[in-house]
Amino acid sequence: MKNCIAFVSTLDEASNILWLNNLKTIFKNYEIILFKDLKEDEYTCINVAIVIKPDIKELIKLKNLKWVQSLSAGVEKLINERDSLRFNIVRMVDDNMSVVMSDSVLAWSFYLYKNMPLYKKQQNNSLWIEHEIKEKNEITITILGLGELGLASALKLKANDFNVKAWSRSKKTIEGISTYCGNDGLEEVLEQTDILVSLLPLTQATTMLLNKQKLNFLKKNASVINFSRAAIFDYKALAVLLDKKHLKHAVLDVFEQEPLIKDSSLWKHEDITILPHISGPTNKKTASKIAYENINEYFVNNKEPLFVDKNKGY
Ligand code: NAP
Repeated sequence: MKNCIAFVSTLDEASNILWLNNLKTIFKNYEIILFKDLKEDEYTCINVAIVIKPDIKELIKLKNLKWVQSLSAGVEKLINERDSLRFNIVRMVDDNMSVVMSDSVLAWSFYLYKNMPLYKKQQNNSLWIEHEIKEKNEITITILGLGELGLASALKLKANDFNVKAWSRSKKTIEGISTYCGNDGLEEVLEQTDILVSLLPLTQATTMLLNKQKLNFLKKNASVINFSRAAIFDYKALAVLLDKKHLKHAVLDVFEQEPLIKDSSLWKHEDITILPHISGPTNKKTASKIAYENINEYFVNNKEPLFVDKNKGY
């Protein structure tokens, strides 16, 4: 008999079908069943589930669940429920996502470096004004978070001749990149930053990390790119600093409520670029393959994948 894997998702029907088609192509020797298609007496047969934006209530019904494979890199919602969840969590770590995310970081860093928001404003007012820009190695781009996505982004920016700095929880050594850690390290690096890129996970320690006090450490005319999670920043404080022209521009890809609500003042802010959570999408083909490798190793070789540290929160 084939092992059964539950697919637990709150995505719309069309997205679920797309995911199931991708997963079923790869999981030939397993049966992948959407949670709502499971019969109640089948719940106890499920040891492993593949999840994307799961409904926690559904996961709790799977009493023998040992671990879940998330199709997302960020798993803060599952971790927030850690007291009621007995199973382990595996997050998506995919080289393809690192390439796509680091391309996004590079693209939007160039957008800011090349003053594109300013030229767009000038065009709107039929203004023909040239602005000199510094050499790339005179522009300091700081990456917050040096994990799978942060490291790939830092290396790509460095290869493109920017002056790159990075901040993480533990101290790192990377050739050609100045690294920082700790609260003092954060304040020290913010003071030198022209473009700040967040690729931190959302945890208790990073919630509202970039508050008014910390954002004030940024150099005058610095810009911000948030490709991680909204709650890491105080967006109200960020908007005030943009209004005061202390900061130049912000590129925001993530919001407390997504899609961003229609009457949010962020939409209309002339110094904010809004993106609809597109900086590092999960690739269905490569992610399905990674999920398969983790799950197959577990069932065939009894080898557990790397579980998220629920205490650290990432
Ligand atoms: P990761 O591999 O777990 O890396 C996390 C990094 O953040 C590590 O370098 C870690 O430091 C650092 N960190 C964690 N807590 C910290 C703290 N309190 N102070 C300082 N540094 C801290 O994560 P990842 O795969 O790179 O993903 C990062 C995040 O990107 C995800 O959690 C998700 O929220 C977001 N994301 C967004 C999108 C999108 O489309 N917008 C797509 C994918 C992911 P150490 O190295 O010292 O442990």
